[in-house]
Amino acid sequence: MFGGTFDPPHVGHLVAAVNVRHALDLDRVLLVVANVPWQKVGEREITPAPDRLAMVEAAAQGVASIEASRIEIDRGGSSYTADTLAALRDQYVDPELFLIVGSDAAGGLTTWERVDEVRDGCTVVVVDRPGAEGEQPPAGWRWLRVEVPRLEVSSTDLRARVTDGRPLDYLLPPVVIECIRSRGLYAVAVR
Ligand code: ATP
Ligand code: MG
Repeated sequence: MFGGTFDPPHVGHLVAAVNVRHALDLDRVLLVVANVPWQKVGEREITPAPDRLAMVEAAAQGVASIEASRIEIDRGGSSYTADTLAALRDQYVDPELFLIVGSDAAGGLTTWERVDEVRDGCTVVVVDRPGAEGEQPPAGWRWLRVEVPRLEVSSTDLRARVTDGRPLDYLLPPVVIECIRSRGLYAVAVR
């Protein structure tokens, strides 16, 4: 699983997903859209989950073995990876579960809800992210690093680009740009 707020999804997420899938020969990568990304609540306004899911579905469309997952949205409430790993363990027959995280998130794993369950329930896959190279999970975690092209792209920058009217091209798939436009996301309200 590759969880995120995906507000919006971008090439950094997608390039990491396809390359980790290839490197580890995974059956599939689930882009798990957080329902309530509780660690971000209060910091900024989060786009409604159905809009973020629609963008991730558009992004994953036509890419073999990369799937949008609504499991956390259907569960509702705050999104805890411990719950999602448990649900995936019930859903598949004897699955081997990997949790993909960018290196900026790797060092913060100890702040996650029911962290022992996360640590014991998966192998963490770290992909380096510009600005956070080399960060890794704490001692005692089962983890590995996979080299992927390092793309200095963030949802934070993309939201600012929409608001400022700067180009989005090549930073996210055209279908996702279309989704942002048609749903009027991130735009400054006309006064
Ligand atoms: P924001 O700027 O709003 O925090 P983000 O670009 O960091 O957005 P998230 O939805 O927060 O995207 O990230 C979901 C996961 O994807 C995290 O594990 C994060 O580390 C990883 N990730 C995000 N962008 C990249 C990138 N450019 N390269 C590698 N991993 C990334
Ligand atoms: Mg982030």
